[in-house]
Amino acid sequence: MSLTRSVDVAIIGGGPAGTALALTLCLYSKLTVAVIEKTAYDNIRTGEHVSASLLPLLSYLQVKEPFLADSHVPVYNVAAIWGHSELHSRSSILNQMGEGYLLDRGKFDRMLAEQVACKGGQLYMQTKCVEGEPLAGGGWKLFLEDGLGESFELESRYLVDATGRQARISKRLGAMSLVWDSLVGISAFLSFESDRSPAEEVLVESIPEGWWYSAWLPDGKLIAVLMTDIDIMRQGKLHKEEQWVELLSKACHTKHRAREGTLVYPLAVKPAHSHILDCAVGEDWMAVGDAATAFDPLSSMGIGHAITSGCDAAVALIEYLSNNKDELLKQYQKALERNFDNYLGIRYRYYALENRWLDLPFWQRRTQLTPIPIAAK
Ligand SMILES: Cc1cc2nc3c(=O)[nH]c(=O)nc-3n(C[C@H](O)[C@H](O)[C@H](O)COP(=O)(O)OP(=O)(O)OC[C@H]3O[C@@H](n4cnc5c(N)ncnc54)[C@H](O)[C@@H]3O)c2cc1C
Repeated sequence: MSLTRSVDVAIIGGGPAGTALALTLCLYSKLTVAVIEKTAYDNIRTGEHVSASLLPLLSYLQVKEPFLADSHVPVYNVAAIWGHSELHSRSSILNQMGEGYLLDRGKFDRMLAEQVACKGGQLYMQTKCVEGEPLAGGGWKLFLEDGLGESFELESRYLVDATGRQARISKRLGAMSLVWDSLVGISAFLSFESDRSPAEEVLVESIPEGWWYSAWLPDGKLIAVLMTDIDIMRQGKLHKEEQWVELLSKACHTKHRAREGTLVYPLAVKPAHSHILDCAVGEDWMAVGDAATAFDPLSSMGIGHAITSGCDAAVALIEYLSNNKDELLKQYQKALERNFDNYLGIRYRYYALENRWLDLPFWQRRTQLTPIPIAAK
């Protein structure tokens, strides 16, 4: 039997953006909120290096203590081989706030979701949104299905797309994603028989086909990610284990870290393109986090931005749903555009530091000052 529940705000996607929004609503308003997350946080989640600027955000969300109680590891050294063949060690690639953390991403995302439930929000894990339709007087009716195959309906005054970089809900509602590149990350986890005590927790190494990212995770595994464009990946079959390992063997410093490691899972390919929605706020809906704007992982800005955008979106929503004023929603949209413009400048300057392979497609594409985005529906 189908049961209809109702909330003020329904958030599809329980990543850092969706849960930050939900926590802000729970803590700083009387609005009711539900987070609908399709997983149980037991899937492989990439993106783990965060700067120290995460901590004030976690304090604002009143989750700093559970965060510090978990086994995330502080990062003291980030090293890069970029623009030349020597290794340069520094505290961070782009962020200027000092050391950050390497997260156990599954644990981090799940902790934020559980805190939503602790603070009075509704949390539906392993739940899919099968369909949704606008209600005649405004708001939405969502048709949901949980992990046991049980169907139920949820009505909400407002809908939030927090589904990540693919922005599936926003695109279905007519928004266009303006895409700046076709970057993908092909990642693998390596385990080791003996303990390693690395000099650098995080390493970035540029190569003719793109760049490698590798980091020592809290559980002692090494994550190694090849970042390249999707056409270069397909052409070189770089998503196949043999070709991926062969390319790794040519990256001097990353290869050295990975020696004696054993691949634990099959390779995973994740989209990592930079994009912004042409419109992140619509009639009774909005997008947050990667769904609204997503950055090159080189910046390590993704998780911090996702949480900030969730908090900002919540403040705008409180004003809109409590006082019927949409000024903050308009400011939210403008701030996304402004931040994305700033980010494009940083991205250009950082890639311009590497000029050893300007005749090769990956690097050629990133030296254009004003690349034209591709619109994707
Ligand atoms: C290879 C790679 C490396 C990265 N490295 C870093 C890094 O080192 N540091 C950093 O800060 N950022 C990094 N990022 C970026 C970072 O992971 C993202 O910016 C961040 O996760 C965005 O958070 P989000 O909540 O917007 O989206 P996500 O984290 O993608 O969360 C979206 C959530 O929505 C759920 N979902 C999706 N569709 C549905 C649906 N239909 N119904 C219900 N639930 C749904 C998903 O299961 C997921 O839980 C990296 C990204 C990639 C691809």
